[in-house]
Amino acid sequence: MAHKMMTGQTLMPFGVPVVSVEHRGELLRLVADDWRDSAACTSPNASVRDSRGVDPFYPADPDTLTDVARSICGRCPVQVSCLAVVLISNEDQGIWGGTTPLVRDRICMDLADGAPVSVVLAGVNAALTADSGAGVAA
Ligand code: SF4
Repeated sequence: MAHKMMTGQTLMPFGVPVVSVEHRGELLRLVADDWRDSAACTSPNASVRDSRGVDPFYPADPDTLTDVARSICGRCPVQVSCLAVVLISNEDQGIWGGTTPLVRDRICMDLADGAPVSVVLAGVNAALTADSGAGVAA
């Protein structure tokens, strides 16, 4: 599938696009100050490892969104900030903002195809909210 390239956009190995300069600016405006202070996954109340000590944010299959990560991210008050940051930084490991690396690649491709940032991020948020049964503040 061919993707429309945008000004300033580059291609990663294997043809996976990263977000354009314009999208980076738009994403950056969505990042709340001190968002890490409110991260649900770092809360003392969040159990981020299962009984075997496995971190659900770094599953053995990197493209599996674990139920634990889905639930925690779906209830996280800074999910949008988190997702915006990892898209800007092109993070290719772990679950962030309720997304796997594969989903983030798809987001980058959707953006490159012209989908608005707000629509793409709202779609991720809506899916997480539906799956976790929680509302998530943007
Ligand atoms: S969205 Fe998920 S990974 Fe990001 S800060 Fe919140 S709980 Fe952690």
